[in-house]
Amino acid sequence: MNAILTFLKNFEDPDLKPIRSAKIARQKFIEKTPEIPLITIEYKGATVIPRPEHNVSRQQVSENALKVVYKLKKEGFDAYLVGGCVRDLLLGREPKDFDVVTNALPEQLARLFSNCRIIGKRFRLAHIIYGRDIIEVATFRKSGSENPSAAQRSTKEGRILQDNLYGTIDDDVWRRDFTINALYYNIRDFSIVDYVGGMADHKAGLIRLIGDAGERFREDPVRMIRAVRFAVKLGFKLHHDCEQAIHLNAHLLASIPAARLHDEVVKLFLTGYGVQTFEMLRHYGLFEVLFPAVEKSLSVEEGDFPRMMVINALQDCDNRVAENKLSPPYFLFAALLYEPMLQRAKDKIGKGILESDAYFLAASEILTQQVGHIALPRHVTLAIREIWNQQAKFDFRVGAKPSKLLAHPRFRAAYDFLVLRAQVGAIPMELAEWWATYQSVNETERRKMTQPQQQPKSAQPKKKRVYRKKAKPATVLNSEGV
Ligand code: ATP
Ligand code: MG
Repeated sequence: MNAILTFLKNFEDPDLKPIRSAKIARQKFIEKTPEIPLITIEYKGATVIPRPEHNVSRQQVSENALKVVYKLKKEGFDAYLVGGCVRDLLLGREPKDFDVVTNALPEQLARLFSNCRIIGKRFRLAHIIYGRDIIEVATFRKSGSENPSAAQRSTKEGRILQDNLYGTIDDDVWRRDFTINALYYNIRDFSIVDYVGGMADHKAGLIRLIGDAGERFREDPVRMIRAVRFAVKLGFKLHHDCEQAIHLNAHLLASIPAARLHDEVVKLFLTGYGVQTFEMLRHYGLFEVLFPAVEKSLSVEEGDFPRMMVINALQDCDNRVAENKLSPPYFLFAALLYEPMLQRAKDKIGKGILESDAYFLAASEILTQQVGHIALPRHVTLAIREIWNQQAKFDFRVGAKPSKLLAHPRFRAAYDFLVLRAQVGAIPMELAEWWATYQSVNETERRKMTQPQQQPKSAQPKKKRVYRKKAKPATVLNSEGV
């Protein structure tokens, strides 16, 4: 009876509807929260740029981001847009996402927004979810150097592990990475609050760390690849101190958990500026930390072949982004790691290992090594393997094999990879062209094309092939699932 009464009571409470475990967890989380007095905001030492003196307009802000900041304002909290969106709007670009910062605590946000999910351990954040659009809302935080507490933990090298010490906007600004990322757009009067000379650096096109560059990179080495990403994306220059500090601290990137690097690397290479980013990461010694096997293969003197393969793959990804098409990470990783895999397989064949086993083992080893640096989901490593495996099958142009290959769900990616190899001269262009024609013609023409007499001599598969038919090696997956 009691259970029924509780159920009915809960049912009347709009905050508890529908009764699902996530909702209940959220409710429990809210109940534990103490009420805190609202903080009055003063800007210690900041310059306030009034609306008429800057070009950021509310019209350019997404509807959902506006909903969030207005609701916070209505409830008596302070709310600012901050980070990349302000930076990009000042440049007249469309922001990738909108980040909001406020004096409301995550628990208060959970209470205010029924579509709120609290995420993150290192940083606790609120995601306000509008279908596929997510507005990230952070609570002002302070850097913990003067206030070490349980809410903030770091390694002995100074890398921050947990940072949940809340503060005011005056505190919050100092823990942001670059001056151009620390401009706050105030929804109350549409002014921009600048504590760190961000507007001047923005005008000068400079990426400058807030505070001591070396210290800030040691706190979080991911900032080094963010510096490169923003420099390329915005066409800005790295400040001298920032450049020097990257040269000195690049190796620290190796300490970042592989899972965190996955997202960062996707942003580095798959958001439209891959080629330039690759060149700049190599220049600063960051690429070799992220992709040691690739860097090693690039340094092998074999003309410009391995490098061109990577550059062309990145260019492909950049072109796709420019055409508003998706660029799947597996294609890029397959291209990056192909040469290291081939080199490793060659070594194994040299040691007398059977060709097919050598390629299988080389693929496993290279992928396992790489996921130790940058985590890749299992479906991605499987796709990479499939693309690699199918390359040898393109040599077979007689009989039923071509139609079987064409029907493979991964055919399109494997074919694009074949074209990539042809472009850098790794295989004859004629082979890629044959497959282009084969795809474009009707069934009767396809049958004609795969008659033995139709095949040019060069199209006959060589006697000894890498993946010739043999007992399939057992699909043994290692602990990383590759
Ligand atoms: P974009 O979203 O265009 O990639 P962004 O600058 O908005 O760029 P986000 O990752 O969305 O990048 O982060 C939002 C803001 O949070 C940044 O602008 C910066 O102020 C702060 N920030 C993010 N990552 C870090 C970091 N590693 N160290 C310090 N501040 C950070
Ligand atoms: Mg952002």
